[in-house]
Amino acid sequence: KVRVRFAPSPTGPLHIGGVRTALFNYLFAKKHGGDFILRIEDTDQTRYVEGAEDYVKESLAWCNIPYDEGPGKEKDCGPYRQSERKDLYKNYAQKLIDSGNAYYAFDSAEELDAHRKEHESQRKTFIYNWHNRLKLNNSLLLSAEEVQQKMNAGKAYVVRFKSPSSQILHMSDMIRGGIQIDTSVLDDKVLFKSDGMPTYHLANIVDDHLMEISHVIRGEEWLPSMPLHVLLYEAFGWEAPKFAHLPLILKPTGKGKLSKRDGDKLGFPVFPLQWKDPKTGAIASGYREDGYLPETLVNMLAFLGWNAGEGSEKEMYSLDELIEAFSLEHVSKSGSKFDPEKTKWFQHQYLQLENNSALAKEYSEILKEKGLTPPQEDVIEVVATIKERATFVSDFWELSSFYFVAPTNFDAKAYKKAWKEDTSAIMRQVIQQLESVSNFSQEKVQDELKSWITSQEIGFGKVMQPLRLSLVGAMKGPDLFHIISFIGKEETIKRIEFAIS
Ligand code: GLU
Repeated sequence: KVRVRFAPSPTGPLHIGGVRTALFNYLFAKKHGGDFILRIEDTDQTRYVEGAEDYVKESLAWCNIPYDEGPGKEKDCGPYRQSERKDLYKNYAQKLIDSGNAYYAFDSAEELDAHRKEHESQRKTFIYNWHNRLKLNNSLLLSAEEVQQKMNAGKAYVVRFKSPSSQILHMSDMIRGGIQIDTSVLDDKVLFKSDGMPTYHLANIVDDHLMEISHVIRGEEWLPSMPLHVLLYEAFGWEAPKFAHLPLILKPTGKGKLSKRDGDKLGFPVFPLQWKDPKTGAIASGYREDGYLPETLVNMLAFLGWNAGEGSEKEMYSLDELIEAFSLEHVSKSGSKFDPEKTKWFQHQYLQLENNSALAKEYSEILKEKGLTPPQEDVIEVVATIKERATFVSDFWELSSFYFVAPTNFDAKAYKKAWKEDTSAIMRQVIQQLESVSNFSQEKVQDELKSWITSQEIGFGKVMQPLRLSLVGAMKGPDLFHIISFIGKEETIKRIEFAIS
């Protein structure tokens, strides 16, 4: 059975790269009728950040990416927070020691530093591995009694993996294909610390095994850990899951990986939700608070590194359609550029698909803050008229304020252009014409005014431009006759009179 996991460390807000990893795991699981598991990897207490786990859950919920198992959704493989599983890992470290695949190391930070410096002075990099380990302070040299003595004396230790000295390791990645590595370049990574906590590597492998994970789908930054992970599975005698490393998300320029700090530079969110740093109180913007729809974020992220295959031009995908179309074969090896403009394009498209009365409800909140409480049908009508020009609900006011309030000042440049010497006189005549229209519907006003203009041989622009200026305050906005019929005869005339004065 397909079982995949998203395994964030709660060290800060999840950024969009993390959301994409979760999304691809979810799509893969659902495509194959499998399970999507959330596991919180919080073994490194020093990097723990308050609120980060809740942020992950809230982000996934907002994106409509539900998990089948995880904290708060306990099933057979729980608990799903590594800090609550910590008693379990020690035994597994012990197993590796017993089988000769791991060893205790007692080197102090100062000793390791001295070795590092010594190597540097010879222009070499210090690696804790087969090449050096027999010169270092560890149980590969010490007798069992000496090890015990050190432990009894409370000397700090770690457990290190004993990586093979020279072996060509063949691995396979579902996205990158075959990968080979000479194990002599690997260092003996720390698996367990004397504070009783495992490191990421040990906990991750033990949990993937115990949680029966079939596919590990994660970011490319974890590719360098893959050899160690494969070796750990071998050392335990466990079957390894299949691996798939997702390509990097690059900055819009294509130069370098998109970082958490890029949001500020771009003036564009790189987090799903707004995040308030618990220490500094600094606020980073999020898609949700910036007015994006979750569909926008999901659709945009799906195309960062994935495509629907040759010949497919479809760009708008619902989550269900993504599940249907998704496959790891169409995930690219190379990084893909984060594209703020394309993201806005998606948002514009998704806004068009939103239900008008739902949008009107949101817009009514904005209107209410401005002290305006027009009837709901009116708001719906306005939304229907202007939404094709909007990307966010927050654009609505700018696009439609004149439906609800009269302009108080006029765009200076437009005024100069539209308001000529004879304009005031013409507009007085327009008022007279409007007075005489009995049924003030959009079509009726349009017919009457247009035929009057034609009969007077005034030239269309000479009437319509100052009229627009009077009603809207600028040379913008939808069909003028729609505005006229919407605000009604009295208000229309009032605005023209104000413009003349
Ligand atoms: N805890 C790791 C992270 O924060 C998980 C990496 C993995 O998926 O193996 O990304």
